[in-house]
Amino acid sequence: MKKKSKIQYECLNCGKKLSKNNNICPFCGSKKRKTYKTLIGNLGFFSRLNGIARNSKNFILYKFKKLTKIAAESKNIAKELLFFDRTNKNYTKKIHRVEELTKGVWKVVHDTLDKYISKRRNL
Ligand SMILES: [Zn+2]
Repeated sequence: MKKKSKIQYECLNCGKKLSKNNNICPFCGSKKRKTYKTLIGNLGFFSRLNGIARNSKNFILYKFKKLTKIAAESKNIAKELLFFDRTNKNYTKKIHRVEELTKGVWKVVHDTLDKYISKRRNL
């Protein structure tokens, strides 16, 4: 995923935004300034957690992926869970759930449960 960043400068004394060349704050005369990076454009993941659980024959019974990110369209903070349950011999269960933080409240924006016919299983 693409990551773009922009360096910004701020006066440490009065908090006003400064330009790159403002070594002395034009508002208060302070020489102290804060430099920080702001990510712009497409953001990467904040966090990602993967997990798998295998049985004694090394077969993957459970697989999950948990992400916290910025939703591409709404720009809200989003939590995503992808969970595969392969404990049944005939089908694999897939749970996909996305929640977005909207005005301080977590809202489910996507919640699906799919079943796929298992292929080549010899548990
Ligand atoms: Zn200042």
